[in-house]
Amino acid sequence: LVTRLPAVGTTVFTRMSALAQQHGAVNLGQGFPDFACDPRLVDAVADAMRDGHNQYPPMTGTPALRQAIAAKISALYDHAYHVDTEITVTAGATQALTTAILCAVHPGDEVIVIEPAYDSYMPAIELAGGVVVPVPMALDDRGYHVPWDRVQAAVTGRTRMVVINTPHNPTGSILRAADLDALAGIVRGTDILLLSDEVYEHMVYDGQPHASVSRHPELAARAYVVSSFGKTYHVTGWKIGYVAAPAPLMVEFRKVHQYNVFSVNAPMQQGIATYMADPAAYEGLPAFYQHKRDLFRAGLAASRFELLPADGTYFQCVRYGAISDLPEAAFAEWLTTEIKVAAIPVSAFYRGGQESGIVRFCFAKAEATLANALERLARV
Ligand code: PMP
Ligand code: GLN
Repeated sequence: LVTRLPAVGTTVFTRMSALAQQHGAVNLGQGFPDFACDPRLVDAVADAMRDGHNQYPPMTGTPALRQAIAAKISALYDHAYHVDTEITVTAGATQALTTAILCAVHPGDEVIVIEPAYDSYMPAIELAGGVVVPVPMALDDRGYHVPWDRVQAAVTGRTRMVVINTPHNPTGSILRAADLDALAGIVRGTDILLLSDEVYEHMVYDGQPHASVSRHPELAARAYVVSSFGKTYHVTGWKIGYVAAPAPLMVEFRKVHQYNVFSVNAPMQQGIATYMADPAAYEGLPAFYQHKRDLFRAGLAASRFELLPADGTYFQCVRYGAISDLPEAAFAEWLTTEIKVAAIPVSAFYRGGQESGIVRFCFAKAEATLANALERLARV
């Protein structure tokens, strides 16, 4: 069999989690919480099962959940997506991202991807026959940011889509209103689509707003906006999320969606809809994670790691140049096997494996887990 994806092996998350387990390391690598979700959410899903929500739900998603999603987007970002034609529930953000790419990108189309980039974008573009056009983020005293002049320079007559991600995995940087305006200036007058990965939308810190593309009418008119309940409600294993997009874009999305998953599990949709009716379900999240971020940063301040800014997500990037000159993957492996704290090399998020002497830690962990990891990291 001739492979469709020659550059792809087992993901860095799977490899580093296996290594962490093998060596009994605290796993700050793969991004997932090690604490339980709200028991009321579990009860809501269990009730939904008992109430008989156990057969195929509508292909587009359970009406109650689409309604809850539309209400949330309207309340937070002041954009009214139509419940029936502009929101689809997906099997995690991953399926939403891949489906949006498969429905929009034709063979030979170019897709601009900002690097470092979450690992699922590029393989999906290649499966669609598209051509990845990577644009590296700039890194200076302010941290990582998107050089929009370089994005502009990467646009050609074949550019079909730009993929953005805010808050950004792995860097923890966020886009701000001025970034979205710059992007709008680039795509104005073209037929370029946007794919906006906003799975960390509720993890933005220090009182800053989340610059959702859905809040920006000009961009929202050409965008698939993706989010994940796995991230929002500390249930990454549930693999459920959604996409919001203008009706004509959603028609094309659903053509693919109905044949690559058809519909998403019914009781979780119903349970999440019930749970979401109380906005407290997401309103407390920035403070909850900011507390963990602050704890983790304070702990690392006493170490030889150099902290990069962390404005959003549950990731903290650090430079380790004062500790080692190993390449990132080797350093992350050493940290896992010898110091017993797993991290992810940021080079894994660059198609060319670019080295910057930076690794990523996930701080979505119980305080005891963070304390345990910090105690080990302080000794390095
Ligand atoms: N996008 C980003 C930036 C992510 O970090 C993740 C989670 N690892 C996903 C998408 C996938 O989300 P889900 O687990 O809901 O498929
Ligand atoms: N999004 C998670 C991370 O960045 C991992 C998801 C996965 O394992 N595929 O760590």
